[in-house]
Amino acid sequence: MKIGILGAGQLARMIALAGYPLGLDFIFLDPSIDACANKLGEHLYGDYSDPALLAELAERADVVTYEFENVPADVAKFLAEHTKVYPPAKALEVAQDRWVEKNFFLGLGIPTPQFALVDSFEDLVQAMATIGWPALLKTRTQGYDGKGQSLLKSEADLKPAWELIQGFPAIVEAFVPFTREVSIIAARSVSGSVVFYPLSENLHKGGILRIAENRANDPMQTQAEDYISRLLNALDYVGVMALELFEVEGQLIANEFAPRVHNSGHWTIEGAETSQFENHLRAILDLPLGSTAAVGKAAMVNFIGGIPAIEDVMVIDNTHLHLYGKSSRKGRKVAHATVRTESAEQFEQSLRQLAKLAEQIDDS
Ligand code: AMP
Repeated sequence: MKIGILGAGQLARMIALAGYPLGLDFIFLDPSIDACANKLGEHLYGDYSDPALLAELAERADVVTYEFENVPADVAKFLAEHTKVYPPAKALEVAQDRWVEKNFFLGLGIPTPQFALVDSFEDLVQAMATIGWPALLKTRTQGYDGKGQSLLKSEADLKPAWELIQGFPAIVEAFVPFTREVSIIAARSVSGSVVFYPLSENLHKGGILRIAENRANDPMQTQAEDYISRLLNALDYVGVMALELFEVEGQLIANEFAPRVHNSGHWTIEGAETSQFENHLRAILDLPLGSTAAVGKAAMVNFIGGIPAIEDVMVIDNTHLHLYGKSSRKGRKVAHATVRTESAEQFEQSLRQLAKLAEQIDDS
């Protein structure tokens, strides 16, 4: 069985690593010659919209999936005419555009920060009268890891923020004074079975995820499961999905969802009975989904911009290192490590050590 993946970055790499024990083969389409998953399967090298390459991918893969949400929806639709493609193109269409996504949340009764459409500077000025300060200006498309976003604290910020996005279609969104950020990851199979992972509690800095910790028995689990279930059902979704949420006064508010495996779920490789990567494959192949139960306490720490000395990571108790095979570059996620243990005390100690190492090399 051959799985086609649009994109050959670290997410594709970890999907392939989960697929090898299941006897699966992989073929990737990626425009980067040194894409880091390419040693784990065949690499079709070229643009995502190259018709000849897409035709070849569709011809050779039994199922096609993707590792990022900015795949042009037309590409997913073209592939779907020739082979199975999961998650469905509709999920891409919704997740790619913050305006569409937020309206989709509201249509399903999922709370989201107050927002308004901004197509011109006048729109922005007008919207601020209703949204109030502080707020965030975000481009509708192509934003990730806090890119294409500006914080608006006072009128003086409006012009520079508007100039920064260079007239791209945008939304303005109320700043949420959250007590914490969490995400829920779920998998839904072709035949409609659904499993949910325990919540991840996530720490971001500069819009980029730094630490994700599993939260078995979290009081917000049920509400998060309810919200992500609405999305899964409305989209007739297949595969792994992540929903990022803010917690404010004991309520969850949706920030965004990702129609793919997610950085906040990397701890599931060691910290859950079945990883998000394996469950993504099981879901798109319509195999029984695996248990998502947590195995002890687990937390993942991202290494951004560089990697500490391997020995310094490995010497920390109960730590598992994942190098992505990517060259180091400012602000780039190049590796992560997961602490997993049954002992709460050991967990705290190892996590502290790991977080310190990550901070030392972090250049973002
Ligand atoms: P995003 O790219 O929209 O996921 O945003 C990246 C990070 O910026 C989030 O994980 C939050 O830490 C922060 N952020 C985004 N939107 C808001 C908001 N409306 N209020 C407060 N913080 C936000």
